[in-house]
Parts: sequence; structure tokens; C-alpha cells
Amino acid sequence: MTNLSEIKAFSKPLVANLAKLGISNLQGLLLHLPLRYIDETHITAVRDLRAGEAAQVEGEIVHAEVTYKPRKALIARLEDASGQLTLRFLHFYPSQIAALKVGTKLRVYGEVRSGFFGYELVHPTCKAVGEKTTVAETLTPVYPTVAGLTQGSLRKAIAIALTQNGLNETLPAGVYQSLHFPSFAASVKSLHNPPPDADLQGLEEKTTPEWQRLAFDELLAQQLSMRKHYASRRSVDAPQFKQSKQLVSSLLKSLPFALTQAQQKVAIEIERDLTQPHPMQRLLQGDVGSGKTIVACMAALQSIESGWQVALMAPTEILAEQHFRKMLGWLTPLNIKIAWLTGSQNKKDREAAMQTIADGSAQFVVGTHALFQEAVQFKKLGLAIIDEQHRFGVQQRLALRQKGQPEPHQLMMTATPIPRTLSMSYYADLDVSVIDELPPGRTPIVTKLVSDVRRDEILQRVREACAQGNQAYWVCPLIEESEALQLATANDTYALMQHEFPELKIGLVHGRMKPAEKQAVMAAFSAGETQLLVATTVIEVGVDVPNASLMVIEHAERMGLSQLHQLRGRVGRGAAKSTCILLYQNKLSETARARLKVIYESNDGFAIAQADLNLRGPGEFLGVRQSGVPMLKIADLNRDAALLNVAKNMAEKLLKEHPAEVEQHLERWMGSAGELVKV
Ligand code: ADP
Ligand code: MG
Repeated sequence: MTNLSEIKAFSKPLVANLAKLGISNLQGLLLHLPLRYIDETHITAVRDLRAGEAAQVEGEIVHAEVTYKPRKALIARLEDASGQLTLRFLHFYPSQIAALKVGTKLRVYGEVRSGFFGYELVHPTCKAVGEKTTVAETLTPVYPTVAGLTQGSLRKAIAIALTQNGLNETLPAGVYQSLHFPSFAASVKSLHNPPPDADLQGLEEKTTPEWQRLAFDELLAQQLSMRKHYASRRSVDAPQFKQSKQLVSSLLKSLPFALTQAQQKVAIEIERDLTQPHPMQRLLQGDVGSGKTIVACMAALQSIESGWQVALMAPTEILAEQHFRKMLGWLTPLNIKIAWLTGSQNKKDREAAMQTIADGSAQFVVGTHALFQEAVQFKKLGLAIIDEQHRFGVQQRLALRQKGQPEPHQLMMTATPIPRTLSMSYYADLDVSVIDELPPGRTPIVTKLVSDVRRDEILQRVREACAQGNQAYWVCPLIEESEALQLATANDTYALMQHEFPELKIGLVHGRMKPAEKQAVMAAFSAGETQLLVATTVIEVGVDVPNASLMVIEHAERMGLSQLHQLRGRVGRGAAKSTCILLYQNKLSETARARLKVIYESNDGFAIAQADLNLRGPGEFLGVRQSGVPMLKIADLNRDAALLNVAKNMAEKLLKEHPAEVEQHLERWMGSAGELVKV
């Protein structure tokens, strides 16, 4: 791969500026594609100008002056055969005053506005017109750039790059023709310099055949890379477990419920993976309350019965604590020793826990991020289970995998369902199991959207619900910009509730509390000792208190869709009919209204996630995961969903039949590393 510093015509400062754009090699520069285009291929007569449209005009300066009222400005009049036009500059250099001398012939380009004295251009680009000035033969590209690198320099650099032999075709002959795409070389050349009659709208929307060809190539590279990862896992050793003969069936017998069909199906998929000599990397998806924990516990027992340790990791202390208690309840009767590890433990407890993990006497370890720490050594880690995986970064998961020798199996769980296009692209290196049904006997949650002006009625509802022996959550407004304000809001809300409901026992939980305090509050709520729990979004993930059947969320319009869905999933976990009330401030923006409508209309995590993806885009949606995964630059999963399907099938075929082309293709699209970060 050609490094930019090897190109003779490139100066050091140019190479340094390109590096700031993340471009280090020829392929990167060739694939630095325009954001938009300007049309300097023809000249418009002043008479034919239209407000709101960009145009190029040529004429002679007939007047120029610097005015001071209402503010300093350089104003000139340009005249062609059909009329006159004002040029206006609010910031300017002395050299520009000189360039606009009366009598100068100029070609100017800018967006036309209707001004007081007819049409005007504000800050147009200006070029002196000489004898030999011609109009541009192609549309002029406008690139993303950084300070210090002008469009002009970038255009020149790319023009040179286009002559450097970097445009070889990486798709086998016949493949792109059969898809009705132009060649790679033709696409890149045309996108940098489209012909004057090009479809401007298609170019902007990236729907022209040239854009589509490159979007396809990018998606194909992602597929190839993911599939290669997937395949390379087969060459890595992992502990091979036997099917459980005893522990799993003992656990199932002790439960007060039977597994749903969906739980049985995914349990079998996981069990089969664990009998393989290669590491499992499976994502278990299931909406909130679908019962993922018991499935994970079955996998854990298979590991333990085969003599290997299990780690279960949760993103918050509250959730880790809850898992720990649940596991104690389920597994103590089976004589399984469980250790507990969090960052907030005192040193003595932690060291004791670490000792049992290291000597192997702890068969099952439950904890938070603390499990990632280097000091934590497992005797024989066979399976790592990660709850709410979207909360963890790629690096953290990697760290956990490195805690076993051979590599442990990994089970990741998420209640934020991953839309199909995402799981086909960013998650294509993982196997996916889906729990697509809820346990029976759950009455669906009723969601209500209520304006904040009707707060009194809502308070009354809380009073009634608690009087009938139910429990309720009151979720404080989210204040993202300041933790101190968030804390103040939580305390204020708590005080208000105490004042409002002197007859109730009320708890308060927020992110700034000490873990032990948090646990005590959650335990009291779980045991029914408190009836109302005032909480921040710390209760968003996983918390399971079946008797809670009412939730009020203040300022719901501030929260993300998946977040609201998670929060709402804290109720409706028992047999009682549950309600979630979304309080909003009046004067909702258009988008806020659209988002609340989604949550109001749907109880289906998948539909909500898809809407969330559409509203926020994959970068936001994927959150931390993006830190280790290159994001798509050209392709768009919504617009190009059909291409994604084709790329997926093509990837399988090319890997089998054209390994050499595959390598070239990956080198072009994945940089010199040629590989995605391992996830
Ligand atoms: P999530 O998938 O959100 O993590 P949990 O595993 O916390 O859900 O399960 C939610 C609740 O449903 C728990 O109280 C759990 O014990 C219960 N549960 C799980 N599976 C079943 C089932 N098949 N029938 C009835 N209740 C179940
Ligand atoms: Mg859970």
C-alpha cells in the first residue's frame, strides 16, 4: 500500500495535514470523497439568476466601496450584458479591495440572495478573468477538510492521487457488471470529477451508480472482515464442555416456572456451542423481562459441571448485586460456591474473593467491571457471561477473554435489540440467539402520555396504587449535562414526594450513592418495605421487582427511546396490570413528539430499536462498541439495506472462490492493518 510520504509531488506539510484528516495512504486519499459539489461548468447571465440557487456569473466591476453603516462592508457592483449584481463582503482583506477595482473582469460564484438593490452574492468566490479563462469541465468537488488545508490544495492532491496507479479492480471480472455497477476506477474518478450533466441530486443522496458501487465495496469489506473473524475463531482452542447431566435438570426442577419455548430454543443453541472445541461468541437478545438470566445460568451450570469457572458481569452494582442474590438462591441448593467482586468492596473482602477465584474454589463469580482488572486471576475460566453488553466497551470484553487459557466461551446478553441491518453488519462476527416471546401471565404494560400540567392527577394515581399494596417508581428528570444538578433534582424530587405522601415509605436511589447504600435501598424496595422508589435512570437496566406496577417518568422527552423502553420494562414483571406514565413538558419539539409517539404506540423492543436507529444513526446507537469498530463512511444501513444483502452473499462466495481478490479488497478498505479490531 502506497504511503503518502512516498509520493514525490506531496510536500511534508501537505502530508501532515492529510494525516489530520486520518488519511495516511493512497487508498485513503482516493476514497476521501466529496461532501457535495458546486457547478462551475457554465456561466449564468445576471438576468437569469434565481434567489436561493448557487450560480457562476462573469462581468466587470463597475463600482466598489467600503461602507461603514450599518456595519463595515466591502460592496461592489458587477455588470454583465444583461444587468448588475451586488457583491458583499463583511470580512475582507486589503488585497480583496484591490482585486475589486473598477474595470476588473471577474468570475464569481455563490448563492444568490434577494437584496435591497436586487440580487446579491455574499462572500462569493472570485477569480480574475484573463484571455484564456475557460469554464470548468466537470463539477467542482467540495471535500471535508481541516484548518490549514484549502479546498484548492486538496483538489490538487487528489488529482495527483488519481494518477498514481491506485485504482485497480478488486472485484473479480464479471461480478460488478452483473450487478450493473461501473468499475472501481470509473466510480472513483467520476465521483471526484463528475461530468457537467451529472445527476446532482443523486450525487448528494449517494444514489448514483458510482456511489452505490463504492457503498457496496465498503459493505463487502465489512462482511469479508467479519466473516474472516468468524472463521478464524474456528482455529482457536476453547474448553470443550460436556452436556450437563445433572445440574441443569436439578435447577429446572427447582424453579416455580417452566421455560418458554423461546428460552428452550436458545438454551439448546448455547449448549451446543459449548460442546465445541472453539470459543463461542454468542449474543443473546431478548426484550426486557424475556428471561435471559435463567438461560445464562443454565450455560453456567454446564461449564461448572465440566469443571470450569464462570464469570458473570453486569454494568452496574445494583444489577450485579441482584444477579448475585438470584444466583445464591438458585445455586446454593446445588452446592455451588459463588464469589462476589466489585470495586466498592473493602480490601479484605475483595482479597478474600480474589483468593477463591485464583484457587478455583469459587466456581461462579459475579461482579462489575472489577472483574476485568488485571489482578483478578482465574484458575480455570471457561465461560464469561456479559449482561447488558452494549454498556461495555470492546476493550473490556477483550480483557475478559484473555483471562482464560484456552480462550473462554463468551455469552453476551442485551435487552436493547439490534435491528436486523445492524446485526447483519456490525455484529456479523457474532452468533445471535433471540428470545422472541415473554413468559406467560404477564399483562401488557399500558403506556400513557400525560402533560406535566396534569401532575396532580398522577400523584393521586400513585397514592391509590400504593394504598392497594402495589409499588411504584418515580423516575426523576434526566440531567445529562451536570451530575451535581442531577443529584439536586433527585433530592428535590425525594423531598417533594415525602411531603406529598406522608403516609408512604419512600426510598431514594441515584448514581452518586455509595454502593452499600444503593443496595440497602434496593433491597428494601424489593422486600416491599418501601412502597415508592424515587430514582434516577440508574434503575434503567435489569432491575427486577415484580410487585412494582406503576412507573412515572418525568421529562420523558429528554430520554432516548431504548432508554425509555428499558425503564418501562422495570414494571409489568409480575401478574398485576402495569402502567407507565410518561410526563412531558408542553411545547414538545417535532422530533420529541415523534419519539414519544413511537414509545407510546409500541411495546416491541425491536420496533423501538429500529426507530431509535433511524432517529439517531448507528454511531450513537452502537455507543461504546464503535470505539473498536470502524464505522461505515459511505454506505448507509437504511438507504443501502438491499446492497447489504447482496454484499453478504457475495462475501461468502468470494471467500470460497477468490481469496486473492479478497485480500486486496480488504487492504483497500480496512487500511494497512487489513483487519478490524477483534471484538
Ligand atoms: P431479562 O431478560 O430482562 O434479564 P429476567 O431474566 O430478569 O429478564 O427475567 C424476568 C423475570 O421473569 C424474572 O423474575 C424471572 O425469574 C422470570 N422468568 C424467567 N423465565 C420465566 C418463565 N419461563 N416463566 C415465568 N417467569 C420467568
Ligand atoms: Mg437482565
